[in-house]
Formats: sequence, C-alpha cells, structure tokens
Amino acid sequence: KITTELLDKRSAAAMVSSLKRVDNAHKGTHGHLVVLAGSIGKTGAAVLAVKGALRTGSGLVSLFSPTDLNSVYETLLVEAMTIPLPKSTTVPSMQDLEHIKQHIEEKNALIIGPGIGTESTTTELVLNLYETLTLPMVIDADALNILAKNRKKLPVPAGPRIFSPHPGEMARLLGGSTDTVRENRVKAAREACRIYSMGRKDCIMILKGAGTIVTSSAGLTYINTSGNPGMATGGMGDVLTGIIGALLCQNLDVERAAAAGVFLHGMAGDLLYRQSGFGYTASELGDAIPGCIKELL
Ligand code: AMP
Ligand code: MG
Repeated sequence: KITTELLDKRSAAAMVSSLKRVDNAHKGTHGHLVVLAGSIGKTGAAVLAVKGALRTGSGLVSLFSPTDLNSVYETLLVEAMTIPLPKSTTVPSMQDLEHIKQHIEEKNALIIGPGIGTESTTTELVLNLYETLTLPMVIDADALNILAKNRKKLPVPAGPRIFSPHPGEMARLLGGSTDTVRENRVKAAREACRIYSMGRKDCIMILKGAGTIVTSSAGLTYINTSGNPGMATGGMGDVLTGIIGALLCQNLDVERAAAAGVFLHGMAGDLLYRQSGFGYTASELGDAIPGCIKELL
C-alpha cells in the first residue's frame, strides 16, 4: 500500500519534536557523526557537509581526511575533528579501510560521497563500507555514482541507507535517462527505492529538485513543499547531507531524518530568499538552519 503525503511545516515540526533539548544535555547526548567526503579540488563539499551537520546540532562531527588535505580542514572546520587517513594522500583510498572502520565503531551515522571522486581505490572502499557497515549511512554524489556503476552486482546493505540523488544521479542509479526521471519523479524514486533496498524496510530514496520526493521502502512517500530556485547552486546538496546526518545522530529514524531534513533545508532557503533574494550561498543556508529548527520546535 502506497501513501503519499505533503511535507509541510506541520508535518516537519512533528518529526523534529524530539530535538527539544534537556537541560542537563552534554555533547554525547547529540551523537557523533562521521563524514567521508572531499578530495583534492573538492574540499568544499566536505566542508559544507560538516557545517550543515554542526548547524543542525550534531554533538560531535569527525571528517576523514586524506593527508594532503588535512591542514585545509583543520583550518576551515574549527568545531569539527579530522581523522587523517595515513595511506590516502589526495582521495579516500581502500588502503585505509581498516583505519576507517575502526573510527566508525560506536559512531551514530556516516555521510559518504560528497566530492570523493570515483577513482578505483575509492570505488572499492565505498562498495566495502556500503556492504558491511551496520550504522545508518547518508549516500550522496560520487558514492551514488559508484553504486550506479556497480548496480548489477550490488549486495544487500548491512544497515539503514538514505540515498540523496539529484535527477542526473537518479538516472544513473536507474540506468536510464534524466528525461525519464523528470517525466515521473515519484515513479523514478519508488523504483530506485525498490531496487536498492533489496528487501530491507529501512531504505530511503530522496529525489532532489523542485518538489523533492522522499520515499521509504516501508511504504510512505512525501512530496516537499519548501525550497526555491535560489537553491540551484553548487554545494546546496552537500549541506543537505550534513543536515540529515545530524538528525540521524539525534535519534531520528531514517524516514524522519530524511523527510524533516529535506523540509528544513528548503525552509532555510526560503528564509534567505525572503531576506535578500537569490544569490545566497550554501554556507549561508547552513547558517540559517538553527533559526529554522527553533521555529519548528
Ligand atoms: P545538489 O544538486 O546535489 O547540489 O542539490 C541541490 C539541492 O538544492 C537539492 O536539495 C535540491 O532539491 C535543491 N534545489 C535545487 N533547485 C531547486 C529548485 N528549483 N527548487 C527547490 N529546490 C531546489
Ligand atoms: Mg550534489
């Protein structure tokens, strides 16, 4: 049975009501997010994902960093921690698999994909983590392209998975054209969710763009009502991964984290548009998130 609902301020507020903070909270209360993002030339993707997570209240955020990029991240992300990858110089590499897995133990969620590239050593790493990790993962950008390329031989994932493709990435996930995706967005999202969930009930497929679709393998489909074309600029999707990752860390289930995250992201864009029109940046959108959460609580 398929139910479709509009994602609006009321439904999003109900989903995030548990984010109200208790007076004696400490940083451990709000989870620890790990981020595998960024490579040489694309450090911004990692920075934006981390900032999105910090602005959404993740207790702690740690970013895996190829050694050549570590000083960039240490300088730009003073509130986050970095985990230097000893054998990866410019892109995250399979050679650091065990090091990465060690640091993921006991963390609450993982973001994987923004700006990591699709080199063969990165591909191997992503496929391994996708198959073996039991923690919830937000999968975006290059990680989606890696899964798409290997879609004929994908394993059942070991944990909850949230996919956040834009229409081009969705076309690759389905092995079809972007036009077909655009013709029937709900159908494309549901089809991809069916294929990639491989029978699991905790798979979420997001199809981004005006009227973002969020569909769950458990049956529910949402159509988002927030957002505007000012968000069609570089880096916006990276911030969304951070928002969703931080919501997962604060104990929202995959369906609520994805749906509420998508609404909040659009709500922040709408606030910035009302204040100053188009031309707001992805970093600014991240900075607008706390006020939006406050308005929903
Ligand atoms: P990405 O292409 O990965 O950077 O993601 C772009 C983000 O901006 C997604 O969350 C989209 O849903 C959002 N976005 C882009 N264009 C629009 C639009 N015309 N209306 C609403 N949201 C948009
Ligand atoms: Mg993107």
